[in-house]
Amino acid sequence: MATHINTDNQDASLASSADLAADLGHLGVAPDELQQTLKLAGLLQTSLELETVLNYFLEAAADRFRFDGAEFTYPPLEAELQFGSRRAHTCAYRLKLAGEYLGELVFSRRSRFAESELQTIENLLSQLIYPLRNAIWYQRALRSAQIDPLTGINNRTAMDNMLTREVDLAHRNQTPLSLIVADIDFFKAINDQYGHATGDEVLRQFSQAISENLRSSDIVFRYGGEEFVILLTGTNREDAALVAERIRGAIEQATFACERVRLKLTASFGAASLAPGDGPEALFRKADAALYQAKEAGRNCVVSHQPELHIQEANG
Ligand code: GH3
Ligand code: MG
Ligand code: MG
Repeated sequence: MATHINTDNQDASLASSADLAADLGHLGVAPDELQQTLKLAGLLQTSLELETVLNYFLEAAADRFRFDGAEFTYPPLEAELQFGSRRAHTCAYRLKLAGEYLGELVFSRRSRFAESELQTIENLLSQLIYPLRNAIWYQRALRSAQIDPLTGINNRTAMDNMLTREVDLAHRNQTPLSLIVADIDFFKAINDQYGHATGDEVLRQFSQAISENLRSSDIVFRYGGEEFVILLTGTNREDAALVAERIRGAIEQATFACERVRLKLTASFGAASLAPGDGPEALFRKADAALYQAKEAGRNCVVSHQPELHIQEANG
């Protein structure tokens, strides 16, 4: 069975615990139920992580009615959370508050949901809706703080976070990790000749051209002005150089169609791979040093950082 409700017809003001207790008392809510309600309301306010908020909510829900599985989805944040196992009978809610879409929550189990249970679920949902909205707003703010507004790709903050995480993972799992730094050649001349608006458009198209030449597991960041970083998980030094060369060729072939002009341009690339003992800064420094060499070598080329040779002395 699928029931669709929306909960945007609630009172828009946030009730304090005391107000809530008074309201529920007037409604003839039993004291132990009142205790549970207040406990849940307090608990839901302690986290801004979607998964934690939903976990608290579902733990409380499991005390009030029976379900085997629950799924929460919120596409704008690519949130897809699955709890328990999905069963044949479902009860689905499209969550909204003051017209704002806040995701879908689906409960499921082997038997049908009874009308009386739907009322319980709706009462519970009315407690979830504000903490859920706060968590969604917070997660969206975190997300937008990591996006470069000009190109719509990840920014330097996102890179710092992700690089630290991926370097730790690569060391722990002993998997390869590579990084490419790309820098547009003579970009200042484009600004000088055609103006900043054209320069901005070139940056957008350049970031798009890089993205189109990557696997879905590779991540591109705008590191600064006309400098981009590509993080390649599970990729060794040789393969990273091939990826950089592929992007270099694609950029060289591309025509950047801006409002008034069609431009050709090139970019230079430095690539490096994680070595034992390298931290995130060391990996970045190696790729950046390789980029510097690519510029020195005349631009429009890829330089791959040479790993240091460890020569073992032979005895005797
Ligand atoms: P090279 O080949 O050595 O890399 O030369 P370049 O001209 O590309 O490098 P340089 O560092 O001299 O110039 C980069 C220019 O990028 C200067 C700066 O004004 C411009 N820039 C930085 N951010 C933006 C931006 O967001 N929009 C535009 N239009 N230009 C930007
Ligand atoms: Mg440049
Ligand atoms: Mg630069």
